[in-house]
Amino acid sequence: MTLAERYQATLADVAGAARDAGRDPASITTIVVTKFHPAALVRELAALGAHDVGENRHQEAAAKAAETADLGLTWHFIGQLQSNKAAAALEYARVIHSVDRASLVDALAKTGISAEVFLQLNLTDDPQRGGVQPEALDQLAERVLASGSLALRGIMAVAPVGEDPAAAFERVRTASGRLLQLAPQATDLSIGMSGDYREAIAAGATHLRIGTAITGNRPPQG
Ligand SMILES: *Cc1c(COP(=O)(O)O)cnc(C)c1O
Repeated sequence: MTLAERYQATLADVAGAARDAGRDPASITTIVVTKFHPAALVRELAALGAHDVGENRHQEAAAKAAETADLGLTWHFIGQLQSNKAAAALEYARVIHSVDRASLVDALAKTGISAEVFLQLNLTDDPQRGGVQPEALDQLAERVLASGSLALRGIMAVAPVGEDPAAAFERVRTASGRLLQLAPQATDLSIGMSGDYREAIAAGATHLRIGTAITGNRPPQG
């Protein structure tokens, strides 16, 4: 299959899954994750109609965003972000999906740049994995709400390998219900990747982060 075929087939499948779940396909943003792929692929995707792209490493993202600045794309940062790269990331990324600790909130807020953020929830017991533990979510949300410049969109999560994604996303919904008591506007859920976007849509995903299903296999990482 060509890139165009994979892109169109994935969008059609996303729309079908939305309708199966009784949802409006237009309520779901599909972010194409272009990590490890060259800027030329981003350009091809834009020509196919993609508006939202995601990257997980700052240097790679910054270079690609600069090379494709003429396309007017919305860049989503979805990987672990060092606090000392926060200001640089906000030069190209409008949305940071991976806010997982107070020091990063402070570094983002200090820039004064308006940005949208998701709090990344760790769905594993392993604190080494990205994301805040569920019991620390409220405190982190309060810090974002106090920032002045950051708009809290909702929760981002990655379903753990080896667990039924539907069960993992159910925990996201529970956390989201709690977050909404504190921040009624933070309704969004950034869940769903190539292997589990149907389950994510059924669980209420508003943002899908889809890489390989659209781009094909990633080139080996450098
Ligand atoms: C790479 C990545 C994705 C996309 O993964 P695929 O399985 O290729 O769709 C989504 N979210 C995050 C955080 C990623 O790092």
